[in-house]
Amino acid sequence: MKVEVLGCSGGMGAGEYTTCVRINDQLLIDAGSGLGTLSQSEMLKIQQVYLTHAHLDHVCFLPLLLDNLFEQLHSPLQVCALPEVIAVLKTHLFNWSIWPDFTTLPNTQSPVLEFVPVDRAYAVVAGVKQVSPIKAHHVVPACGYRIESDEGKVFCFSGDTSFDPQVVDAYDQLGSIDCLMLECAFPDRLQHIADQSRHLTPHSLAGFIRSLKKPPGALWITHLKPAFRDEIQAQLTQCKLPVDLKFLSSGDTFIL
Ligand SMILES: [Zn+2]
Ligand SMILES: [Zn+2]
Repeated sequence: MKVEVLGCSGGMGAGEYTTCVRINDQLLIDAGSGLGTLSQSEMLKIQQVYLTHAHLDHVCFLPLLLDNLFEQLHSPLQVCALPEVIAVLKTHLFNWSIWPDFTTLPNTQSPVLEFVPVDRAYAVVAGVKQVSPIKAHHVVPACGYRIESDEGKVFCFSGDTSFDPQVVDAYDQLGSIDCLMLECAFPDRLQHIADQSRHLTPHSLAGFIRSLKKPPGALWITHLKPAFRDEIQAQLTQCKLPVDLKFLSSGDTFIL
């Protein structure tokens, strides 16, 4: 399974792109500004987009993707998300005020966009056996995703979440995880802001990992706010977690 980190930043800046992960060329997890690094021909290969939640840094390039693909797709682009997330996108984004409602364009019989609740979604991408949601604890309805390849490799992405016993329980139910991509937005001195916005700091991330019955094989850190990158990296390195730790950069590609 090929995992490409098109964007993994918690903010913007030169070379910084927000969350978007491409799997086997055809599946996206989130549609942040990292999506804008793809060429038109690469965009045309996308079959499904799984969204973790409706915050702007995770969906901002979805409207532009649909605009690019308009009249070039033979079947609708599937956007899979929690029902609450789909409702927010319909009300606040694809509402004809911010952007057209692409579920009715060019007509309702063959639209360019199809929303699919994650509990009814199934992977249609070659090499991907299953995509299933994982509990997250954020300020809005949100989930992570577990992606299993045909070869049985398991990649999990937390989306935006805080350290919560129910989230730990959910990860403990998943069995072996080859690689976990986990957010860490703020340094420890901003724990109060992280708690308010339900994000992780190095301290709470370490608590999360140490609470798991079985740590993942590899831990990829994502969603660092650019202003705090060095501070977060130094604090997380000091935690000496019992995992293979990697700080992601936009453009990183891995084969699992
Ligand atoms: Zn968020
Ligand atoms: Zn975010």
